[in-house]
Amino acid sequence: MNTEEKDAAYIAHTYSRYPVCFVKGKGSHLTDEDGKDYIDLGSGIGVDIFGIADEKWMEAVTKQLHTLNHVSNLFYTKPMADLAEMICHKTGMEKVFFSNSGAEANECAIKGARKYSIDKYDKDRNVIVTLINGFHGRTITTLAATGQEIFHKDFYPFTEGFLYTPANDLPAFIKLCEENPHICAVMVEPIQGEGGVHPLTKEFFEGIGKYAKDHDILLIVDEVQTGNGRTGKLYGYMNYDVEPDIVSTAKGIGGGLPLGATFFNHKTAGVYTPGTHGSTFGGNPIACAGALSILSRIDDALLQDVKEKGQYIKEQLSGAKGVKSVAGMGLMWGIEPEKDVNTLVPRLLEKGVVVLTAKEKIRLLPALNIPWEDLKQAVAIMKEVLAE
Ligand SMILES: *Cc1c(COP(=O)(O)O)cnc(C)c1O
Repeated sequence: MNTEEKDAAYIAHTYSRYPVCFVKGKGSHLTDEDGKDYIDLGSGIGVDIFGIADEKWMEAVTKQLHTLNHVSNLFYTKPMADLAEMICHKTGMEKVFFSNSGAEANECAIKGARKYSIDKYDKDRNVIVTLINGFHGRTITTLAATGQEIFHKDFYPFTEGFLYTPANDLPAFIKLCEENPHICAVMVEPIQGEGGVHPLTKEFFEGIGKYAKDHDILLIVDEVQTGNGRTGKLYGYMNYDVEPDIVSTAKGIGGGLPLGATFFNHKTAGVYTPGTHGSTFGGNPIACAGALSILSRIDDALLQDVKEKGQYIKEQLSGAKGVKSVAGMGLMWGIEPEKDVNTLVPRLLEKGVVVLTAKEKIRLLPALNIPWEDLKQAVAIMKEVLAE
């Protein structure tokens, strides 16, 4: 059996994969089984921030691999402590909990927000508001937090205690909070990623931030996709005048190894106490050593570059033939095509360009250091295909 046949025989059929099997890569290039070369505008769903097989990340990871791979959270390990220090220094947050994925980082944020409120008020003040069309993960609780019925229909019953409100409608959010005395937190993505690349407006995000602060409702920001330089700032919320109480991230921070992280500010830093949360693998030394290499290189020069490359994508594709709309920030873009996205992606693969989708859109999440020459070539091919 070849890989495709084996996969069909033995892998649970949760994905309908594209008919491509990648065998290697370097930077923003991928190679399939037949030796065909592709330019990668997806970076493994925003994970390979410095591209495939990034030298500095590989060096950090292999050095740690040969030193100490795992001992569990019953003991101290240096990469985890160093990484938490770097995160706190770069963001002004005060404590970090490490896990292995975005869903787990959000579970930790949700549990933490409820514990903060239950410790301070009473056990009924436990409701979390999330946005319609948001995405927060695939566990039963993070699915409950995900305001999209399409993800719900097969899996009732869900964790209780979530209410949904439309993005970018501040009066609706305030009305919901005024009608519900049990709200303890609001959880948002700065740009709804899986929901179709919809950035929050400044008015809405800053408005909910202010309302939440005034009412001691915690602001949880899900930076799983928008974090770690993706939007042209270190974290997506930094494009807005807001102060999150809890931030979750994953995807890019590990640079290709599973790593989730939840950050707590001065208000929430003390919420977790020994025994109240945990993870066997969380903060694994190898993943953390890699993340230290990633995070230390997300500096102002790189972020400036991210903004310029994003501007290029926007300028090239806005109003281009076959394009209805372009939305995003930094190196996170949603291109709404006139044609069906499900016919465009295979066509782009044929032409050697890897893209993602989000709802009806083509979604671009290239490596933050994608070389100009690769970006220009891929955008030119996209323009050709979109105009066909
Ligand atoms: C991908 C994603 C998640 C889920 O992350 P996993 O690592 O797949 O669990 C959660 N929130 C957002 C915003 C995401 O983009």
